Amino acid sequence: MEMRREGRDNLVVLKLGGSVITEKERYKTPNVDSIDRLAKEIADAGVKRLMIVHGGGSYGHPLAEQYKIKEGYREASQIEGLSKTHQAMLELNKLVVEALICHNIAAFSVTPSSCVVTKAGRIETFYDDALQILLNTEFVPVLFGDTVLDTEIGFTILSGDQLVVALVAKFNANRLVFGVDVGGLYTADPKTDTSAQLISHTTFEELKRTLHNIRGSDTTDVTGGMAGKILELTNIANADIQAIIVNATKEGNIYKALKGEEVVGTSIRKE
Ligand code: ADP
Repeated sequence: MEMRREGRDNLVVLKLGGSVITEKERYKTPNVDSIDRLAKEIADAGVKRLMIVHGGGSYGHPLAEQYKIKEGYREASQIEGLSKTHQAMLELNKLVVEALICHNIAAFSVTPSSCVVTKAGRIETFYDDALQILLNTEFVPVLFGDTVLDTEIGFTILSGDQLVVALVAKFNANRLVFGVDVGGLYTADPKTDTSAQLISHTTFEELKRTLHNIRGSDTTDVTGGMAGKILELTNIANADIQAIIVNATKEGNIYKALKGEEVVGTSIRKE
């Protein structure tokens, strides 16, 4: 408990969207330029206590969808799909961690399926001892949306978005940065609706009220796109944190968001 309070002021959790670090439409294709640029921005920002979670993009999603991993165990043929999906995520994680290490960040891969068990898709058990020590030793843990074991449905997908929100709550982070491929949260999907307006400031309570008005992602995404992120965020409505959604494909945005500087995007606070 004490250890958590000590770090209260400066823990930042960063989620790098799968659509930012991979070519979403091309199976298992990383966006190496984007990964390298982001690693540099993260290094330049120099946040002392940082946790990173990345999404699956074209590594995790196509396989997860093909084998219907999120729905849980239905038939034996899904078993090989679970292994393949998990392995694809490990491959992507390796690229992200290597890029971070290249930029002199003490990145340390932590596999969610080894420390999280879900119940009907929601985190039930979280063995956080290793993460706690990593953070206190100033490593940068790097986790990802993963295939996990589930006490009710056998297995499922733990989205990076559910994971970051759980990490924020567990480790009392004071800032959560979502790096996505659009400018923030809009009134509608900016990719399909040209009249969509950027919501630059909002509150968690407001998100709860407007959730039903926000349209979901139009891309194939088992974890539900922007609507999924917003839904997860409403679980920390009482936390005294700032969540920021920025376009991570634009150079400098992740640097600014990590530093706490003014940045174009959506800022969400308690009030
Ligand atoms: P990531 O893979 O980066 O985590 P997702 O693809 O899951 O991101 O979710 C982000 C996507 O959600 C955006 O690319 C956008 O097309 C879509 N989206 C749907 N509705 C909205 C909205 N109201 N505001 C912003 N983005 C939206």
